[in-house]
Amino acid sequence: MRLPGRHRGSLLLWLGLTAVGCVGLARMELARLQDAFETDARIAHRLLSQRVVQHDAILATLALLQPAAGAGSAEQRLPALYPQILSVQRREADAAWSDAALTSAEAQSRTARRPALADVDFPAGRYRVVLAAQPASYAATFDLRQVVPWQEWPMDPRSSAVRVALAHSGQSFVLQEGRGDGPWSFAFHKHLAADSQPFDVVARRNVGWQELPWPWMLAWAALMAALVSAWAWLRLQQAERQRAEELLRLGQVARLNTLGELAAGMAHELNQPLAALLANTQAARRLLDDDEPDKETARGAMRQAEEQARRAADVVARLRRGVERPGVSATLQPVVLSQAVRNAFYLLEPEFARRQVAPRLEAGARDVAVQAEPVALEQIIHNLLTNALQALDQVPPQERTLSVRVQQDAHHGALTVDDSGPGIPPEVLPRIFEPFFTTREHGLGLGLSLCESLASGMGGLLAVEPRSRRGAAFTLRLPLASPA
Ligand code: ADP
Repeated sequence: MRLPGRHRGSLLLWLGLTAVGCVGLARMELARLQDAFETDARIAHRLLSQRVVQHDAILATLALLQPAAGAGSAEQRLPALYPQILSVQRREADAAWSDAALTSAEAQSRTARRPALADVDFPAGRYRVVLAAQPASYAATFDLRQVVPWQEWPMDPRSSAVRVALAHSGQSFVLQEGRGDGPWSFAFHKHLAADSQPFDVVARRNVGWQELPWPWMLAWAALMAALVSAWAWLRLQQAERQRAEELLRLGQVARLNTLGELAAGMAHELNQPLAALLANTQAARRLLDDDEPDKETARGAMRQAEEQARRAADVVARLRRGVERPGVSATLQPVVLSQAVRNAFYLLEPEFARRQVAPRLEAGARDVAVQAEPVALEQIIHNLLTNALQALDQVPPQERTLSVRVQQDAHHGALTVDDSGPGIPPEVLPRIFEPFFTTREHGLGLGLSLCESLASGMGGLLAVEPRSRRGAAFTLRLPLASPA
């Protein structure tokens, strides 16, 4: 009954700790990946920006130097120096551009006083830039793929998970494909630093489930499993120890010890008054046997004998008080009967298991709280259950049933322990509450008498059910904590 609950608690605790730890580890890894992505994207943006600024500088240098026209002139050697420059065109003061795009870009460049973009051909991977100058103007065609300084590139373009593209008016040119798909993604979008080549660097990185730090997460789960198991084990040990202590307190061992001490004490204390009693009565008889009896002395001896007998009676009374445990009523408090029964079931769990008995508790939906001394009540229930178990030992395992019923009437709460043992023979029935009456070989015959005293000490009653169909049934009745 309790064990699965304990397991469920540990399982939930483990799940909770594992979930919290794994979410934390996953978030740390995602943050690390995002950091790395942003660093790479910023480096890529800076490298590309440096390149396009360099393009502006090359055109500006050309315009400034105005190299002589004709084959072999400086601008024709540029593609050899800069692989990203596919060709350079020159328009002499009196000539015209080969197409309208270059003409309009030159006009734009003249007003803005900086190089201007003529056109972009993303499918072919190239674009043209014009710088208006005097006397000749220049136009350069750039190869987009060669614009990227691959030696300094922060990522491996073949294997990197990051997709990098250059975008311009709704179109884009992919510099690096990137790979992977997943529920998380990071994005980077930034304009290049040169107005003559108004491209955006667009980077994107998807993170898949497989990229989460699974080994760490598994290690964390295993660590938590170990810790929670250790904790559960410690708690189990503690519970077992408590159970053993309780049993010891309630059980025969403790009672036997007390009883042994009481008996030894009683023998010691009775010895002296009994010896004196004997001596006095013998002396009195001798005196009275004389021819002239000394009645006065005999009377004195009898008085002393009487006193010794009273002393002996006191010793016996003290023993009874010890067994009956007086003063129970001093500490009465409300106790929920079904809870007390559950506690007793828990303590006897190993005994039930050993005897293959599954005890049943039949209690209504409402708790029945009685006025009782918790330890005394526990002692009674424990004794009744132990007696029932001993009775059940005498029938085959498949016939063993044990139930505890909790009921209430207007003034009392009642608890009935019902077993399917051999029952109580009619000739034994009237004597079972007598102290030291037992039918068991190693019995003390004190259990039921003690229980009865404890019950009446709490203003209650312990009785055996007269008509029990099979086995025996004992009912404990105690005043309700709050009567209806
Ligand atoms: P002990 O258990 O030491 O014998 P008890 O006072 O507890 O002393 O019990 C007195 C006697 O009452 C037992 O010896 C037994 O004959 C009888 N008895 C008690 N409970 C049961 C029961 N559940 N079924 C049959 N007999 C019982």
